[in-house]
Amino acid sequence: MGQRIGFGVDVHRLAPGETLWLGGILIPSDLGTVAHSDGDVLLHALCDALLGAAKLGDIGSNFPDTSGEFKDIDSKELLGRCGRLIAGQGWSVVNADMTLCLQQPRIRPYIARMEEVMAGILGISADRVSVKATTTEKLGYEGRREGVTAYAVVLLENR
Ligand code: MG
Repeated sequence: MGQRIGFGVDVHRLAPGETLWLGGILIPSDLGTVAHSDGDVLLHALCDALLGAAKLGDIGSNFPDTSGEFKDIDSKELLGRCGRLIAGQGWSVVNADMTLCLQQPRIRPYIARMEEVMAGILGISADRVSVKATTTEKLGYEGRREGVTAYAVVLLENR
């Protein structure tokens, strides 16, 4: 049985008057992400990890933000498409592990729902999806609340 690991990272700027979608959940916040899509960095990092593991390019090559079709698209739809792309190549998700880096707001109350949403989209049980969140101790752009970063690792296996 073949296995493949994949890694993804995404960063978006934060600004007032924008929404903060993370892991498919709308999170109350004074700052939100600036993006062509809904700016859900966690879902974007997960998409890139899935596509990378299956050697299917990246989110930008599959869903170009210059295309009207993908402008302001719900990132949950992108994740669903990535899931179908890898499934079409015979891959299933063993597990996904992710880390969010941002100073505020506190993410812990939303983590279980994020895991359920992402697992549901990928058609796997929530115990295969792990989200962690950390601050950067006020260091760097995350610490200054100029941006948010997400990292994702996935393991795929060939059915
Ligand atoms: Mg992005």
